[in-house]
Amino acid sequence: MSRAPNASTSILPSPLISTPLKGGGFEGFWNIGTMEHFVYGPVPSRRLGRSLGVDLVPYKVCSYDCIYCQLGRTKEKTIERKPYVPAKRILPQVYQKLKEGIRPDYITLAGSGEPTLNSEIGSLIHEIKKHIEIPVAVLTNGSLLWDSQVRESIMEANVVLPSLDAHDQEGFETINRPHSEIKFETMVEGLIAFRKEYSGEIWLEVFILDGINGTEANAIQFKRWIERVNPQKVHINTAVRPSVETYARQVSPEEMTRFCKILGEKAEVITPYKDQEKHERGADVKEDLLNLLARRPCTLDDISSGLSVHKNEILKYIEPLVKDHTIDMVKKGSNAYYQSNPDRPEIRSTKSEIRNKSKY
Ligand code: SF4
Repeated sequence: MSRAPNASTSILPSPLISTPLKGGGFEGFWNIGTMEHFVYGPVPSRRLGRSLGVDLVPYKVCSYDCIYCQLGRTKEKTIERKPYVPAKRILPQVYQKLKEGIRPDYITLAGSGEPTLNSEIGSLIHEIKKHIEIPVAVLTNGSLLWDSQVRESIMEANVVLPSLDAHDQEGFETINRPHSEIKFETMVEGLIAFRKEYSGEIWLEVFILDGINGTEANAIQFKRWIERVNPQKVHINTAVRPSVETYARQVSPEEMTRFCKILGEKAEVITPYKDQEKHERGADVKEDLLNLLARRPCTLDDISSGLSVHKNEILKYIEPLVKDHTIDMVKKGSNAYYQSNPDRPEIRSTKSEIRNKSKY
């Protein structure tokens, strides 16, 4: 089923194929010091533990414009698939991160938009699986799974984490604000078709919002669709981080629990990520910190877990960055989130790196 290339059409240069990370050391073949950053983290993920993120599309190129998005408004709402970032530009950076000694729980294809819009996602998964022993996760909004080519392209992933935030067309338009050519039933039938063809794990996320889709009546409607999708797990999430729309508010823990119970035993409320272990980390804390915050707002705990650096050490970097407004601190409930200030030159350059990927 997979459209991934065979060995004779590998996208890696031959010296790398002869020294794969699987069972052997890796010597770099690229000078990646001046490259754009397509790989970030590891970031603390409440669903995947320590997740090495791979950004497959330019900043906010997405088929949706969700009201709860933590990255801001969608810049380009599209369903056009393109090699936004060729796999051969991403792979060396994945290798470089691993060479630094980082050992994530998953290599996660996700990033600043919808990763299945990248038409090279299948080749990338194939090459990672061939050379690296770390499981691959695809974090997708699931909006393009009605397209059999998209379904085929992610068949080799170990786990796919799609979203289902609405149970009808009205809710879909209110919450996800999809591209005009994506209809609710088309999207959800794509999820059902994928389930039938894919042998790996599907962990479905349902993102609930206060006063919008988080009631018990909503849960009963969701349950009908979830039974048809039949994922291994259902993750109930809410807006714990700052959302693009202020009216996209989190539901209470009690409501989350009630909602979850209605969905049955596969459903679980996602609990805040806690890293118990000491992990190795990459070399440049400030650069990793700015890369992380350019993609998502994080608490001090998130940053500390993701970068494997003690909170006191992180604060030494954060304080001057807040002082000179390179990053901002935003209160959300009882938590303080740090996020990049898009008007600062350091962040403009990080974000423009992300945006400029479209030219490759
Ligand atoms: S939350 Fe995900 S799917 Fe929704 S607009 Fe943001 S990047 Fe796109």
